[in-house]
Amino acid sequence: MILLDGKKTSNEIKEEIAKKVELLKQNGKKTPHLAAVIVGENGASLTYVNAKVKACEKVGFESTLINLPEDTTEEKLLDVIRDLNTNDEIDGFIVQLPLPKHIDEHKVTLAISPAKDVDGFHPENLGRMVLDLPTFLPATPYGIVQLLDRYNIETSGKSCVVIGRSHIVGSPMSILMSRNNKVGNCTVTLTHSRTKNLIDYTKNADIIIVALGKTEFLTGEMVKDGVVVVDVGITRVKDDTKKSGFKLLGDVKFDEVAAKASYITPVPGGVGPMTIASLLMNTLQAVETK
Ligand code: NAD
Repeated sequence: MILLDGKKTSNEIKEEIAKKVELLKQNGKKTPHLAAVIVGENGASLTYVNAKVKACEKVGFESTLINLPEDTTEEKLLDVIRDLNTNDEIDGFIVQLPLPKHIDEHKVTLAISPAKDVDGFHPENLGRMVLDLPTFLPATPYGIVQLLDRYNIETSGKSCVVIGRSHIVGSPMSILMSRNNKVGNCTVTLTHSRTKNLIDYTKNADIIIVALGKTEFLTGEMVKDGVVVVDVGITRVKDDTKKSGFKLLGDVKFDEVAAKASYITPVPGGVGPMTIASLLMNTLQAVETK
């Protein structure tokens, strides 16, 4: 079994980006600038946003964190987005999800200028992805594609099962894995909460991408020998032995599945860091394609 080390791979990507940023600066070009908007005090979201800002520093980007209170109105958030859309200093920005219940996520996603949508959630960018046109790929699926690519995992002609059909992970992932690309050309089955006899699909899969948010859901008996497994799930579980008071669990029962897998991502240190690397890649692309 080989660990698909997202931490190591994301650090390699960050080094590559840092070199490109250095070149941009030497050539008198603009330093890439990513802004992140967060609404409220959700602990996990704050952790993710802080990690994104820290990653910007590491590669030499400028970054701006806009922290809005939980009771921010939808209109106020849309105003902030409109300002970011027209602010020439900002090359790309994200609005950290989930948002408080009183704010319509779809309205927010639609308000972000597609040219600055470095999370790749805007319908225009998703549409461009489907049509194989240059675009910002959604950050988590893009990170997974990068990870599979950099480990030279053969995907062509393979059977790929995606578990979970969210707009930000499962659905775009299923499209990317079926595209005619180096990482792609799979025969994809997109499974979800209404799928019957899931094991019939997973047991025959060469590649399984798990994104449903249920801890240790994929077990050893559900997979075949030699399978490639990508675990997207991140759930905080109370753990008093940890300083933070919690540990992170994925959607895969790691020990059981790793014993049968040829490649597998750990949690933490797998897909999470790759998502951040993708965000940086998209932000650099926003500057380079201006
Ligand atoms: P979501 O929570 O929006 O949706 C869950 C999906 O799982 C749904 O499509 C549902 O149909 C499916 N599902 C539920 N029960 C199922 C079952 N029994 N069998 C098959 N499918 C089932 O999904 P999400 O936003 O993609 O998040 C999934 C997990 O991935 C969460 O743990 C989240 O924290 C994590 N996540 C991690 C990253 C990262 O960067 N590592 C990024 C995004 C999400």
